[in-house]
Amino acid sequence: MTGTTTPTSTVAARAVDLHKTYGSGDSEVRALDGVTVDFHQGEFTAIMGPSGSGKSTLMHCLAALDTPTSGSVVVDGVELGSLNDKALTRLRRERIGFVFQAFNLIPTLTAKENILLPLDLAGHKPDRAWFDTVVDTVGLRDRLGHRPSEMSGGQQQRVACARALVSQPSIVFADEPTGNLDSTSGAEVLGFLRRSVEEFGQTIVMVTHDAVAASYCDRVVFLRDGRIVDELAHPSREQILEHMASLQTAPARGER
Ligand code: ADP
Repeated sequence: MTGTTTPTSTVAARAVDLHKTYGSGDSEVRALDGVTVDFHQGEFTAIMGPSGSGKSTLMHCLAALDTPTSGSVVVDGVELGSLNDKALTRLRRERIGFVFQAFNLIPTLTAKENILLPLDLAGHKPDRAWFDTVVDTVGLRDRLGHRPSEMSGGQQQRVACARALVSQPSIVFADEPTGNLDSTSGAEVLGFLRRSVEEFGQTIVMVTHDAVAASYCDRVVFLRDGRIVDELAHPSREQILEHMASLQTAPARGER
C-alpha cells in the first residue's frame, strides 16, 4: 500500500510518534501522547484543539524550541534529535520563521531593522528584490522607519510576518498570530500569510483557537489529550466550529 505515503521530499516538517511527558507518577501529564503528522511544502495548516490539548507543546517541539520525551521531528529533511545546540540554533535562525501572538518585535529598532534582524543574526545579506517583495506584500513600504510604538498592533504583526518571511524559511510557525488583533487587522494578517502560501509556496503551521483564522488554511488538524483525533481539508468556518464543539463535548481521557 504505497498510495497513502508521502514522499519525504514534499514534507517540510514531520513528527513521528512524538511523546512529551511532564512530571511523574500521579502528577504525570502527557502533553503529547503519540503524535505522528506531516506538514507538506506549500501548505497552510492550522493546529486546533481545546485548551491543554498539546498544541503549543507540539509546535514548540516542531520548531526546535522544546525537546520531546521520545519520538522524532524532521524539519527540512534534518532529524532534530541528531543536532547539537549550536546546530539547532542555526536551523531555527536559517530554516524556520516565527510569528508570535505578542509580535515580539525589538522596541528600539525600526520596522526595517526588525525585519532584517534574523538575517543580521545569521550573518547573511538580504536579497534586495526579495526584501522589496515581502515589504510590498505586507504593505509596509511607508512604515519602514517607524518603531513598534509608532505602529498599530496590525502593523506590528505585519512587521513580524515580514521578519518571518524575509529569510525564505522552509517553514513558518505562527502561534495565535491574530490573538491580539481586532478582526480587520487579523483578516489582513491572515490574508498576507495566505498570499505567501499562494505566491511564494511558503509552508505555514499555525496554532489558533479561532475558526475564522483556521478557515484561511488548506488543512486543520485537531488535537485532544495530546493526540491527533481528526483533520479537515479546505474547511469552512462552520465545519471547524462543529468539529471544535464535538471535541469539547466528547468524553475526556479516562472517562471513556
Ligand atoms: P495547549 O497549547 O493546547 O493549550 P499545551 O501544549 O500548552 O496545550 O499543554 C498541554 C498539557 O501539558 C497541559 O495539560 C499543560 O498543563 C501541560 N504542560 C505544558 N507545559 C508544561 C510544563 N512546563 N510543566 C507541566 N505541565 C505542562
